[in-house]
Amino acid sequence: MSKTLDRIRKRPWVAYVDDERDSGSSIIVTLKDGYEFAGNEGCGVEGYENVANALSGTARNCIFNTQTIKPVKVVRTCPRCKTHAYHWGNDKGVKHRIACARCSHEWMGRIKKEEME
Ligand SMILES: [Zn+2]
Repeated sequence: MSKTLDRIRKRPWVAYVDDERDSGSSIIVTLKDGYEFAGNEGCGVEGYENVANALSGTARNCIFNTQTIKPVKVVRTCPRCKTHAYHWGNDKGVKHRIACARCSHEWMGRIKKEEME
């Protein structure tokens, strides 16, 4: 067991670290709900080739806390039920996630700056 991987596991935003290098894959880091990788919007899972990359890639300044994002009402057409109305943008604090007010389908969509006010 790598001590560095244990250090990564102890980071408050890290949910799991799976070392899959033995099977030809990489070190897979999964973040807890409410966190995502700053350079990889909407994504809470990343793979690293080695322990050093995993350590630097999961540092505080690389992690984005989506819980600080405020929900907004946005006018959209739900891709599932086709309801064109106000839906919840930044649903549950996840940036660009929109939840249908009618069928509760969730999808990812851009939210414009002016909609944030
Ligand atoms: Zn819908």
